[in-house]
Amino acid sequence: MFYIGNHTSSSGGYLAMGKRIAGEKGNTFAFFTRNPRGGKAKEIDEKDVAAYLDFAREQGFGKLVAHAPYTLNACAAKENLREFARNILREDLQRMEYTPGNYYNFHPGSHVGQGADVGIEKIAEVLNEVLTPAQSTIVLLETMSGKGSEMGRDFQELRAIIDRVEVNEKLGVCLDTCHVWDAGYDIVEHLDEVLEEFDQVIGLDRLKAIHLNDSMNPLASHKDRHAKIGEGKIGAEALVRVINHPALNGLPFILETPNDEEGWAKEIAFLKENYKLSNA
Ligand code: FE
Ligand code: FE
Ligand code: ZN
Repeated sequence: MFYIGNHTSSSGGYLAMGKRIAGEKGNTFAFFTRNPRGGKAKEIDEKDVAAYLDFAREQGFGKLVAHAPYTLNACAAKENLREFARNILREDLQRMEYTPGNYYNFHPGSHVGQGADVGIEKIAEVLNEVLTPAQSTIVLLETMSGKGSEMGRDFQELRAIIDRVEVNEKLGVCLDTCHVWDAGYDIVEHLDEVLEEFDQVIGLDRLKAIHLNDSMNPLASHKDRHAKIGEGKIGAEALVRVINHPALNGLPFILETPNDEEGWAKEIAFLKENYKLSNA
């Protein structure tokens, strides 16, 4: 099955998000679990969640890919910021249990001058404190562009974090096409090799979701500026090869392109037209 959708505003709640996505002919989506800058989360409305779950079942929606706030930094130098990261992760993971069995994606963090080795240790420490064997949600580490002191700039860093986490059966990876391109992985000329490297370093069984974005900047620019599909340096042809790669078959593809609903509907239609794998 081809699961395609976009990051949508959380306004209106779960059913409203599902209906917006269905209106664009999508069948999966991402959303911020709270204000992206990290404010207090809205109370969960259980009736709204139940209505959404029915709707999603009828529509044949795939797994959701919730997104943690940007301000969450599990490897911050200041202890109060790491306490904030722990609290948000714990609370968001509790909230995710209202929609069981989905994904929760977060940016590993920025080591802010402490060095990548310290960053890895601190991120793993926070994950060891918040992940539990009983949770149904898989937490995804996002591949990052390596802007500033951002962690997750290569597959090895993500592997090093995963290796240090005890309950790592609850950990996966979300590959962002703009971020890996900006980090220096040439998915335009060498998609097979990049995915082989991912398999060797992390294991493709950990790859749970794709953020499908074009990039405003060239390979290895370490910038992280998303472009619309076909309007960036990656290009539509290469992104069509991504959705059709057999190693990625069945994963949710989430657009985080700078669009409105009409723009996303167009991108979803374009990608569906160009999806060549069996849609059974
Ligand atoms: Fe992200
Ligand atoms: Fe992303
Ligand atoms: Zn980005």
